[in-house]
Amino acid sequence: MKTVILFYLVALAASAQPKQPNWQKLEEETMKHFQAILQINSSDPPGNEAPVVEYLKRILDKEGVPVSVFSLDPRRPNLVARLKGSGKKRPVLIMGHTDVVSIDSTKWKHPAFSATREGGYVYGRGAIDDKDNVVAALMVMISLKRLNVPLDRDVIFLAEAGEEGNVRLGIDYLVNSHWNEIEAEYCFAEGGGVPRKGGKIEYAGIATTEKMGRGVRLVAHGPSGHGSVPLQTNAIVHLSQAIARIAEWQTPMHLNETTRAYFERLAAISPAEDAARYRSLLDGKGAQAAQEYLAANEPRLYSTLRTSISPNIIKGGYRSNVIPSEAEATLDIRALPDEDMERLLDEMKRVINDAQVEIVVPNTQRRPGSRPSRLNTEAFVAAESAVKKVYNSVAIPTMLTGATDMSFLRARGVECYGIGPMTDVEDGPKGFGAHSDQERILEEALHKFVQFNWEIIYNLAKAN
Ligand SMILES: [Zn+2]
Repeated sequence: MKTVILFYLVALAASAQPKQPNWQKLEEETMKHFQAILQINSSDPPGNEAPVVEYLKRILDKEGVPVSVFSLDPRRPNLVARLKGSGKKRPVLIMGHTDVVSIDSTKWKHPAFSATREGGYVYGRGAIDDKDNVVAALMVMISLKRLNVPLDRDVIFLAEAGEEGNVRLGIDYLVNSHWNEIEAEYCFAEGGGVPRKGGKIEYAGIATTEKMGRGVRLVAHGPSGHGSVPLQTNAIVHLSQAIARIAEWQTPMHLNETTRAYFERLAAISPAEDAARYRSLLDGKGAQAAQEYLAANEPRLYSTLRTSISPNIIKGGYRSNVIPSEAEATLDIRALPDEDMERLLDEMKRVINDAQVEIVVPNTQRRPGSRPSRLNTEAFVAAESAVKKVYNSVAIPTMLTGATDMSFLRARGVECYGIGPMTDVEDGPKGFGAHSDQERILEEALHKFVQFNWEIIYNLAKAN
């Protein structure tokens, strides 16, 4: 009898103990897979994600994780792997895009597709955008399967094509043609990160929303004429005035759940002077002074407060003695996720106040807008505890000023969270960041990121 009870107690203790991969062994495997997929040139354009998908499929097949491949263009397939749960809860999706941005090979000391390891780093296009997320998701799938973890929800891994410029073949196609394969309650993807300054972790950013790219053109029209007879109706003059008015215009400041929490939590970990400034944005007192300071000194933070407009291209005229009949400027508009674009364009028209200048909205495919993902979800809480456990730091929700594939899922009601590895803030300006000419990742950061993914997904999906 005694032995039976003892056996029962031992078994109980074992089942209460969270399952953990053998990290040392897993690190070796992680590095092998990471280097292998970095060495595949999947730069977009033209893309060529097929060899990455073949590689991932081979590994997942060998481990017994069920895989499907969906493609609109056979050279640019998308991979979906799924581990089944009991169905007690709705699925969680982890995703990473398999394409990378193109390169200028003359600028790379270590060739861009060599995956060279040097001084504790791995160099290569895609090292932090986004083959880190791809390999982390792969390792989570493999580990859940090997440990045979009982799940309350399905865990889905999506490795999608075309994120860097051809979403039609990737996320847009999957959402519209294979929604039942990827439908989930929560998703985790690229976009966050763990900034380290002077070797010290500052916080872990979890991206819960993003701005929407909504660029327009301003086109000024006027009669052409001889340059020796200046006209008040000169299209270039009217365009210039319109640009100047737009540049002076301060679009309204607007905080959402994410940016409010961002400034609150940032204030809690910042030096007194910065903290006071962030708090004044929240309570409204002195907000204008704080905004002016940010506009001059922290333009990225200033941009998170509002829909931003930046005139980035200007064209007009073809010879010095001809008054041109047309001149145009391209404005990069990054709208807040809940911006009412029609109202904004009306307001813009009022600010420009010139019948000679028209606002032209391009007719191209755009990433959809949606409300920010919520902070009071099981998924965000799981991410917060994983931040504490893996990085011994705090999670701060962030709004990305750029765009990601998560926008398509949020628009379908999925709560999505952007996560990313630890990087040194000093690295970016030195040219080692995402999209730069010597993209790299700390080996230590890669391994920690795999653990971070594991902690989140394991705790969110394991059977209770
Ligand atoms: Zn990316």
